[in-house]
Amino acid sequence: MIDRQTIERILDAAQIVDVIQEFVPLKKRGVNYLGLCPFHNEKTPSFTVSPSKEIFKCFGCGKVGNSVNFIMEHEHLSYPEALKYLARKYNIEVVEKELTPEEVEKQNERESLLVVTAYAARQFSENLFQTDEGITVGLSYFKERGFLQNTLKNFEIGYSFEKRDAFSKRALEDGYKQDFLIKTGLSIEHEDHIFDRFSGRVMFPIHSLSGQVLGFGGRILKSDAKTAKYLNSPESEIYHKSRILYGIFQARKAISQEDKCYLVEGYTDVMSLHEVNIENVVASSGTSLTQEQVRLIKRFTPNITILYDGDAAGIKASIRGIDIVLEEGMNVKIVLLPDGEDPDSYSKKVSNEEFSKYLKEKETDFIRFKTELLLEEASNDPVKKANLIRDIVRSIAVIPETITRTVYIKECSSYLEITEAILYHEVNKMRQQRTFQDRNKYPGPEDLPVPPPMMQKSIKLESSTYVSEKEIIRLLLKFGSIVMAKKIREEDGQEEVTTVADYIVNEIISDDLLFDNPVFEKIFDEFRFAVSQGIFIGEKQFVKHEDPVISRLSADLLSEPHTLSKIFANKQTYVETEDMKLKEIVPDTVLKFKGDKIQVRLKEIMTQLQEAVKAEDTEKILSLQKKDQGLKLALRMISERLGKRIII
Ligand SMILES: [Zn+2]
Repeated sequence: MIDRQTIERILDAAQIVDVIQEFVPLKKRGVNYLGLCPFHNEKTPSFTVSPSKEIFKCFGCGKVGNSVNFIMEHEHLSYPEALKYLARKYNIEVVEKELTPEEVEKQNERESLLVVTAYAARQFSENLFQTDEGITVGLSYFKERGFLQNTLKNFEIGYSFEKRDAFSKRALEDGYKQDFLIKTGLSIEHEDHIFDRFSGRVMFPIHSLSGQVLGFGGRILKSDAKTAKYLNSPESEIYHKSRILYGIFQARKAISQEDKCYLVEGYTDVMSLHEVNIENVVASSGTSLTQEQVRLIKRFTPNITILYDGDAAGIKASIRGIDIVLEEGMNVKIVLLPDGEDPDSYSKKVSNEEFSKYLKEKETDFIRFKTELLLEEASNDPVKKANLIRDIVRSIAVIPETITRTVYIKECSSYLEITEAILYHEVNKMRQQRTFQDRNKYPGPEDLPVPPPMMQKSIKLESSTYVSEKEIIRLLLKFGSIVMAKKIREEDGQEEVTTVADYIVNEIISDDLLFDNPVFEKIFDEFRFAVSQGIFIGEKQFVKHEDPVISRLSADLLSEPHTLSKIFANKQTYVETEDMKLKEIVPDTVLKFKGDKIQVRLKEIMTQLQEAVKAEDTEKILSLQKKDQGLKLALRMISERLGKRIII
């Protein structure tokens, strides 16, 4: 693990606006910054970044956190990975503290594999541009196909020598471990010999969103070769084919700028489009899209346009996979390229302007495209037509937004010459079936097994006191170090200062009260410690807390827009801002917290009392009744102090 000091240095260096601006265009609005949320689809910005609080919050989807949370969420990184990402950005040397042997092994392995793939990419690139074999075989292939050197460099294209062990041998000589060469799939072990997987191929590195090389695609150049034309790295600790899209690293900026992502099939299709200044393009590398890939695109735009070459059989096979894109609520469009052309060939055949114009003009909505395509085939065959309708209905049924579904139903009704009512009925039927299937996959609350009595109790406790626990924590975080009262001690004439934290902590520990929510309890414990040591701790320390659960929760609590305490918001007299009224709000909140805790205790006593009555345990009944009366008295006093807002 990274040691505390380094974490602090990283967090201090990471300016939240600076960190987020790399991914989301932000505009200054008063003291804050505003942008379109990268975590959900929105047309009007509700994603707010506060440089003073060093937090972000989306008022649309509720995502909230500090700069590390943002990087974790946005780049799909773990907490230490996100810290390292920021450390690299701000040139901070990372000192790591000891991990368990398994953790070290796993982390080291991932990193070692990334070191190996980065090395390999460098080697392959050097081969392509600086060696005779690379230039005559590899580079000339790309030149013949009309690719520019800039594009090749931008995609880190390379070449792997024909000699069967050239790369592996060189890597071993350079000190890279055989184990990692094999685990990345770059080398293959066979009867005590180590060979190159990609010998004699031009190499396409596959980058992560942040530009790390995760794996490779290699294309054989010899036409008589008996092996597959394209070969990919096998799945590894770092390379998961279903989670990455070729070109996403080079495309991500353009995708958010253009608010659209083009999807093509091959590596060279992606490169070709870059050459005609269309940079918002990625490739699924021949496989049908996965949900993870769709979500990757969705982080940048809800609009996806798929380029198909004119092969009808291929199209029919692949449109089934599109439902997964609709299901994510994305707008899917299709562009069908002229017969016999693929994006690579067609973009080279016509001028840049003509190509862009073609894409714009030929773009068709997916459902319409699918309907027309299938309708053509079904023509007058009633059985085929029935199948077609079912097929279209299935696609419409997966669309999450009601309005979009309605629009499609209207449209398809006229296309298919079928009444809207029937289509509605079919779509709803399909949706009900889907909900049922989903529920089997992920049990809903009503399907969960009934928890044992112990757990039921703790769940109840959580829900009834959650609000007041949260309010206590919020006051601690926001105003903990503010002075509530000063007095001169009689004994020595010294000034004694009571902060909000002093007051709350002392009140709560003197009554031996506990928090049910474990995260609140953790935060409270840190305040308790600080108070006992006489140290001030502020909100920043929690927003920057090393425990991501705490930092996220703190950011959430501190980002709430209200200036009035939630509990007392309905009380007319609290018109001033909270900090002006701390002397009232803090004691009142503590009282409310105590009152809630007492009510929970009273319920417990009631249950115990019923049991004692059943067991005819007179002694116990009496003692419980006494406790009950005591607590009710306390509760009544609290209610009076709070203006009778608590009902017993
Ligand atoms: Zn959002």
